[in-house]
Amino acid sequence: MPLFTTSAAWVTTEHHLYADIVSRFLQDHMVPNVARWYDQGQIDREFWNLAGEAGLMGAGVPEAYGGAGADMSFEAVALYEQGFAGDVSWGYAIQSIVMHYLVAYGFEEQKLAWLPKLVSGEYVGAIAMTEPGAGSDLQAIRTTAMLEGDEYVINGSKTFITNGQQADFVIVVCKTDPQAGAKGTSLIVVETDKVEGFERGRNLKKLGMKGNDTSELFFNDVRVPASNLLGDTAGQGFYQLMNQLTWERLIVGVQGLGCADFGLQETIAYTRERQVFGKPVFEFQNSRFKLAEAKTKLEVTRSFICDAIAQVDAGKLDASTASMVKYWATEVQNDVLDECVQLHGGYGYMMEYPITRLYADARVQKIYAGTNEIMKELIARSL
Ligand SMILES: Cc1cc2nc3c(=O)[nH]c(=O)nc-3n(C[C@H](O)[C@H](O)[C@H](O)COP(=O)(O)OP(=O)(O)OC[C@H]3O[C@@H](n4cnc5c(N)ncnc54)[C@H](O)[C@@H]3O)c2cc1C
Repeated sequence: MPLFTTSAAWVTTEHHLYADIVSRFLQDHMVPNVARWYDQGQIDREFWNLAGEAGLMGAGVPEAYGGAGADMSFEAVALYEQGFAGDVSWGYAIQSIVMHYLVAYGFEEQKLAWLPKLVSGEYVGAIAMTEPGAGSDLQAIRTTAMLEGDEYVINGSKTFITNGQQADFVIVVCKTDPQAGAKGTSLIVVETDKVEGFERGRNLKKLGMKGNDTSELFFNDVRVPASNLLGDTAGQGFYQLMNQLTWERLIVGVQGLGCADFGLQETIAYTRERQVFGKPVFEFQNSRFKLAEAKTKLEVTRSFICDAIAQVDAGKLDASTASMVKYWATEVQNDVLDECVQLHGGYGYMMEYPITRLYADARVQKIYAGTNEIMKELIARSL
């Protein structure tokens, strides 16, 4: 099941070929490990290097910095294929987000130093915005980065950070001028093995996405060179976040569509096989109608997402449309997977079936990358 609609003008033969390469890699190297990753609470560190070698990361990063120099749509294809392979333990979505902060705001020296490492998997990336007391209200963050000579000194704590147990490279959202509100917010890079005072907290136990590590991070007088600031002056963090969150929100929707497509495919197969009252579950009119509704919702979502991908490639995806994609696609993903669980009966509640994991994984999609309530706030502001 491809991400593409037949009418999406941006789709080329290369997109289809790339989708096949990614899909084959994931079937060979990801799918056989998923159950073990769930048990260990994180993926194998080497998987990042393997994925890098296979060219799965950074398709949209310029060649000068180790990427393939292609359109962002290729990264969307890879993220969709991951969802359609049925597991989101590998935190590539965050790696992609981190890379594009650097592409957009890094200096030449920063890009040359860091992007090739992120593309190859030598570095695992994370972005640390959320704090125990500040999630939706990002302006309320309390982590500070104060300039002392030619260094920033970072103090504070973050929570719910994806890839936090493995991250070598963290973009930290800090207050460089705590009195200046949004205008005092900056993005500062911490290379975790080059500093003292950085600590990882627990790998948090979650409802779903159990193979993807989520952590608390602590910064106690962490000193980094002043040149680790993203952007030419301090205080641009909020503007940078608002711009890059459009990509984050789009790819949350893209992966959600991949997961829901996979769930529907599994459910069609299951209902054709499962016999009840002497006939396949698929033959009941209720089942056929529920599957038809799910298919229709996914096709509508696919069209919307394909249109948004075209806008990204044209550099025109606005915050309101990205919020609509995130809100709509994750609601559809949750609705569809809920029906899929129902059509599996009791087996839909048993972890042996992929549908159960997909259902549990889906719930957080309505919460992270900005809750769906915040998405509606952003959409409403554009009305
Ligand atoms: C598995 C997972 C991975 C994550 N990964 C990362 C990561 O890598 N990096 C990172 O920085 N963060 C990450 N997060 C954090 C995530 O982005 C936040 O949890 C999310 O933004 C919500 O913030 P909060 O949890 O503080 O909820 P709160 O802000 O406390 O919200 C609680 C409720 O109030 C509602 N609410 C808040 N404000 C409004 C409003 N103005 N109008 C209406 N309703 C409102 C919310 O929608 C929600 O229903 C992750 C979270 C999870 C669960």
